[in-house]
Amino acid sequence: YPGSPSVSQRTLVLLKPDAVQRGLIGEILGRIERKAGWTISALEMRTLDRSLLEQHYAEHVGREFYEPLVAFMSAGPVVSMIVEGERVIEGVRALAGPTDPIAAPSGSIRGDFGTITRENLIHASDSEESAEREIKIFFPGIS
Ligand code: ADP
Ligand code: MG
Repeated sequence: YPGSPSVSQRTLVLLKPDAVQRGLIGEILGRIERKAGWTISALEMRTLDRSLLEQHYAEHVGREFYEPLVAFMSAGPVVSMIVEGERVIEGVRALAGPTDPIAAPSGSIRGDFGTITRENLIHASDSEESAEREIKIFFPGIS
């Protein structure tokens, strides 16, 4: 799009335990992978422990949804990945849709498959600063 500057970024994406448990890894990965100019540069599946989640969700400590969120996020394996490419931070957030699946439009991942606000299938970093912070937590070996 003329006038839109080219910006290569990277972002941390998680497919949450509900996505893995419901067999939606391929569906969601496919939407990300099909986007022209984006690359998955790191990928891993593991069950997250509380200390990692406390770091990842530090901004939400003390909120009423925090403890149930940590319980949900540690209840089964999560697929974590780094996605790189043109305006990928904004782009994956757009593919995901708003936090609340009821408010998320059809065509977005949360709009198409989400159930309740907590179990909304996907996490994606919300800024360059968050992306760098979260990549260090999930992929400490990658600079
Ligand atoms: P997002 O993942 O869209 O960036 P937030 O950073 O606000 O959303 O919240 C982190 C996660 O916490 C959400 O994806 C969702 O799983 C959960 N969450 C947020 N708000 C609520 C809520 N009001 N009730 C239950 N869970 C919530
Ligand atoms: Mg967030």
